[in-house]
Amino acid sequence: MVVELSVVVPMYNEQEVLPLFVERLRPLLDGMDVAYEVVTVDDGSADLTPALLQRYRREWPQLRVVRLRANSGHQAAISAGLATARGDYVVTIDADLQDPPEVIARMLDLARADGVDVVYGVRNDRSTDTWFKRNSAAAFYRLIGLMSSSTARADAGDFRLMSRATVDAVNSLPEHNRVLRFIVPAFNFPSDTVEYKREERAAGASKYPLLKMVKLSIDSLTGFSTAPLRIATFAGFGGAVLAVLLLVYTLIAQASGHTVAGWTSTVAIVAAMGAIQLLCVGILGEYVGRMYTHLQGRPSYFIAYDSLTSRPSQDGPT
Ligand code: UDP
Ligand code: MG
Repeated sequence: MVVELSVVVPMYNEQEVLPLFVERLRPLLDGMDVAYEVVTVDDGSADLTPALLQRYRREWPQLRVVRLRANSGHQAAISAGLATARGDYVVTIDADLQDPPEVIARMLDLARADGVDVVYGVRNDRSTDTWFKRNSAAAFYRLIGLMSSSTARADAGDFRLMSRATVDAVNSLPEHNRVLRFIVPAFNFPSDTVEYKREERAAGASKYPLLKMVKLSIDSLTGFSTAPLRIATFAGFGGAVLAVLLLVYTLIAQASGHTVAGWTSTVAIVAAMGAIQLLCVGILGEYVGRMYTHLQGRPSYFIAYDSLTSRPSQDGPT
């Protein structure tokens, strides 16, 4: 079966909103005139979500259910969906109707018309998010912008359309704790954006408590920046320089005779050891950083155009 469009939906304890979501999504997709599948990823729900999904599946042949063994988190659930989706295009969307499903059709039309690989859903109105969420998000994106070369937009979440090539690129990454909203733009595929209004959650409560938001922030920062490790390097070298200065000072003090017996050797040893240790920590930090980048396995480059194999219209020089 050829699938033109996959809709990947992560779900964690969404029994309240699930009926509303299905009611709104199905007629839209049925009316779109594409061969589609809906890949629901049940992220280890402990409520009626799995039972409801099984019930819907009986009367909705395009509905697929992927169940994770344990609650693994929003990003992991999306990753599982991307790994199993078969479509030429894949849209990821939240189950709580904060991302209006009507936008899916606009994304697909745009991708086809412009021949782009990614269409980002961009929130033009976040008034339904809490003050805390809006401001902490804005501050966080500024920080990540400063500390890494990320080009991710602060107003784009995980509502986006990706081409098969993009999904394959994401799936090829061996890294854990992926944060897709930063990884996808890093590939630099040709992209468009569609604006939409972020709605209020249609039913149920947020499945993103503060602790999960903190985890997402740490994953984003450590996944996209070795700046924290660099701080260790700089501190190490800075500390080593200070220790050497201290060593020089003790020797001068010794030579001029202004010291208590035993002071020079004690301070000199402390300073020398400190210098060596801090230097070594800094050097270790640099190698750990390199190992980490290597482990993440992201490609160092992506060829956008090769005259031998690419179609002329594809990202090529015009
Ligand atoms: N979600 C998930 N696993 C989790 C937490 C959330 O699959 O551990 C799903 C959730 O069911 C929803 C989406 O991720 O479809 C976004 O979660 P939510 O709407 O609760 O986050 P918020 O909009 O409050 O940031
Ligand atoms: Mg939500």
